[in-house]
Amino acid sequence: MIEAPIIEQFAAIVGAGNVLSGADADAFFTDWRRQYRGEALCVVRPGSTEEVAQAVRLAARRRLGVVPQGGNTGLCGGSVPTGARPEIVVSMSRMNRVRAVDPLNNTLTVEAGCVLAEIQRVAARHDRLFPLSLAAEGSCQIGGNLSTNAGGVNVLRYGNARDLVLGLEVVLPDGRVWNGLRGLRKDNTGYDMKQLFIGAEGTLGIITAAVLKLFPHPSASATAWIAVKSPASAVELLAALRSACGDRLTAFELISRRCVDAVLALRPGTRDPLGANAQWYVLAELSDSGDQATLAGLVERALAESTERGLVIDAALSASEAQAAALWQIRETIPEAQFANVKHDVSVPVSCIAEFIAQTDAALGTAFPGMPVYCFGHIGDGNLHYNVGDAALVARRGEVNRLVYEAVSALGGSISAEHGLGQLKREEIRHHKAALELELMQRIKQALDPDGLMNPGKLL
Ligand code: FAD
Ligand code: ZN
Repeated sequence: MIEAPIIEQFAAIVGAGNVLSGADADAFFTDWRRQYRGEALCVVRPGSTEEVAQAVRLAARRRLGVVPQGGNTGLCGGSVPTGARPEIVVSMSRMNRVRAVDPLNNTLTVEAGCVLAEIQRVAARHDRLFPLSLAAEGSCQIGGNLSTNAGGVNVLRYGNARDLVLGLEVVLPDGRVWNGLRGLRKDNTGYDMKQLFIGAEGTLGIITAAVLKLFPHPSASATAWIAVKSPASAVELLAALRSACGDRLTAFELISRRCVDAVLALRPGTRDPLGANAQWYVLAELSDSGDQATLAGLVERALAESTERGLVIDAALSASEAQAAALWQIRETIPEAQFANVKHDVSVPVSCIAEFIAQTDAALGTAFPGMPVYCFGHIGDGNLHYNVGDAALVARRGEVNRLVYEAVSALGGSISAEHGLGQLKREEIRHHKAALELELMQRIKQALDPDGLMNPGKLL
């Protein structure tokens, strides 16, 4: 019997309109930052778990690599083909159904292709909060968020994506479906399999659905833009606000003046909240049940005390949701405002943040005099976006990375705090992770995907 061409075989599974090739497939082959591009045979867009399973089985039979793709907003080349071997891209965007909402169990069961912002809206309609929040939330998908263990602005209070999941459904590399869609908060029956797939960047299987944790929807929130003297003052302010306000503190973002200036340059109409009176700012968000005035009073008192202690130069508390949104807009525009340069998303213990910035600024200043540094990030979690230079410096990325990662390692940090390894840090990680840890990762990969078909050329 003569086999039909491969594209027709995938079309028989998902429908001809859901197999893309040629110009239609182009956008799926290039990453968000347009730094990675690779060819694949086609893009397959399954509409159900069964279709994903059949497509993966066909790919396995034909020894094709399988590249899972969500919103394609990842920043390290994980979601696009490498072109090094015959591959298909499996785009999850048609799998966007909400399967179940259980407000009493505080859970939401969704398919992997649901866009994060839509999940937040569904939770809100049931008077619940799904706290995962990041600037790409209008395009990124929950499957991508889980596969990269996404962080974002609310990690301080609610944790990373890893902490927000109770169960998963996964299509394994051989096409079998693991149904682990349990909504249990307690389950001590051995290895926690779901955690293997979270943060695996699609190298162990395709996540098709998840049971997510919901939280009470806060009725009051306060957003403050705070000018501080230095990163060290910001870290002390973090401790002071946590003592005064406890878990109400949900986000604590450090922003350098240079980042604000870049946003103003990109969007000249933007209001500069406190003017250029400081080199460093903090954007803090607090939320609570109860009324707005009580929370605002608590935050005002905490900020007044911190001002007396000399930690705060000046602060503005937003008076409306629109004002709060405008403050967050500044923060969320930073990635676009310094698009092409050498980027790092690193973490160190919170207590080492100031030392990391001072040391690395100094080392870079010596090696690359006058190079701008765009430093911002979630310092409540010890996670900084530390971006250097301009498009021209990208050619010398290796030298810049060496300086930054040496400082990170010396302080016991991580070279990838939130974006993952993908293609970008696949080599670099070998210098930073213990050989035994890398060997254990290889063995897990080998056990689940002995033919190395799932997202080849990424992570490991
Ligand atoms: P993709 O980019 O499509 O894929 C990412 C990885 O997951 C790839 O390896 C892919 O193969 C794999 N994958 C995707 N879907 C599946 C699936 N269903 N099953 C198995 N594997 C899958 N990240 C943060 O953590 N915090 C931030 O604050 C943050 N801010 C960002 C801001 C901007 C402006 C941008 C562009 C990105 C930001 N990111 C951030 C990075 C990115 O948004 C996250 O990594 C996000 O979780 C990726 O989701 P995605 O659906 O776009 O995944
Ligand atoms: Zn971030």
